[in-house]
Amino acid sequence: MSQPYALDVLNPATEEVIASVPGADAAAVDAAVRRAARAQRAWAAAAPADRARLLRRFAAAVDDHIEELALLEVREAGHTLGNARWEAGNVRDLLDYSAGGVERLTGRQIPVPGGINLTILEPLGVVGVIAPWNFPMPIAAWGTAPALAAGNAVLLKPAEATPLTALRLAELALEAGLPEHLFQVLPGRGAVAGDALVRHPGVAKIVFTGSTRIGKQIMALCAERVKRVTLELGGKSPNIVFADADIEAAAAAAPTAFLDNSGQDCCARTRILVQRPVYDDFLDRLAPALKSVVVGDPADEATQMGPLISRAQLDRVRSYVTDDLATVRGSAPTGPGFWFPPTLVTGVPPEAPVATDEVFGPVAVVLPFDDEEDAVRLANATEYGLSGSVWTRDVGRALRVTGAVAAGNLSVNSHSSVRYWTPFGGYGQSGLGRELGPDALTAFTETKNVFISTEA
Ligand code: NAD
Repeated sequence: MSQPYALDVLNPATEEVIASVPGADAAAVDAAVRRAARAQRAWAAAAPADRARLLRRFAAAVDDHIEELALLEVREAGHTLGNARWEAGNVRDLLDYSAGGVERLTGRQIPVPGGINLTILEPLGVVGVIAPWNFPMPIAAWGTAPALAAGNAVLLKPAEATPLTALRLAELALEAGLPEHLFQVLPGRGAVAGDALVRHPGVAKIVFTGSTRIGKQIMALCAERVKRVTLELGGKSPNIVFADADIEAAAAAAPTAFLDNSGQDCCARTRILVQRPVYDDFLDRLAPALKSVVVGDPADEATQMGPLISRAQLDRVRSYVTDDLATVRGSAPTGPGFWFPPTLVTGVPPEAPVATDEVFGPVAVVLPFDDEEDAVRLANATEYGLSGSVWTRDVGRALRVTGAVAAGNLSVNSHSSVRYWTPFGGYGQSGLGRELGPDALTAFTETKNVFISTEA
């Protein structure tokens, strides 16, 4: 029997404790699964139009509370106000988009001799969503919204550091009229509440976003029951700049591509690969752009980058940027808070730890390359495969290189990765399965085929 425990939630910009939240143990998870299973059966039996209407009401409730949710995200995660508003809006949009999928989740009737053949998409049952701290609201919603729309119940375990927005979303769901126990939030430690969710026989699927290490553990545990699993894991994404690109535009866009959310972004373009003839010119433009990034109080509208999430994350990032490395650094506040300045590392070999590991902080390496083949080789020299960008004016090259880079989300002359209506996910050790986009709901269904003889 585990002991009762609480999670202290810190403001990462000040290190002040802003809340203490009771943590769920295995018994609490078990009780929640049982309640969710009952709620799910009624939800799956409800008319699709009613389910869609309730999800749209949930979206409207989120819309009415964008500012409140955003401020909560600023306080518990240190996100800039602009980002936090976008994140709350993303939850609203995804709920609305998923609601539109409820009545469109159709099966098939495939011609067969001697009868009728029906292919039916059934909900899985109770789905466990295990979310990280880097984008607490959107990532929670990426699993939750389509799972609910497909007729499932959802148990959401937020990260230890960021339970507050998740708890508020569950309250808004109830206020909007979603059935009790259909969407429950279980704050708690990963090794306690998360583990109980993964092992519970009543949970049909786990959607996990976080580190590759824990993702592998979860996949192995799910294998014991052949439990369904979607994994969104780490990344070490390339930003490939060819000599024929608009160098000014590429240099102007590169800082945000790895500094957004203080670099705590699985899509961060942290390996900047630059073709040799423009390497110096690119760096000369990139360095001032990096130094001009405004780092400070995330609640200030002018701030472009806030703190890291925790002392542990700060220590991790520091451990990669050792004194012997050549760096270009921006500024960061001193005093309380988990601050690290925007940092470019140059002159390291491609196999250096800072160039291969997911640092998950505002740190990028700049590496030169010779030609297209060399660029693709370097881009693919990673166990990850989540995102990447290609900067070139040559359309043929853009198509060849995006075709050759093994990653799930690529952009040309842009760093855009995430839209709620296009699919998102990783190759290799960046993940398994896809989220978002038009097929998101089917990831939360089981396919059943029924043959009805007309000859009996
Ligand atoms: P983590 O993988 O430990 O945590 C992610 C989520 O999994 C949290 O909700 C956590 O409580 C839960 N969890 C942890 N152990 C679990 C277990 N045994 N069973 C079930 N659930 C469990 O990530 P972290 O420690 O918060 O961050 C460490 C590193 O992971 C970061 O530095 C970063 O490199 C990476 N990371 C990546 C992403 C991403 O979006 N790809 C997100 C967060 C962290």
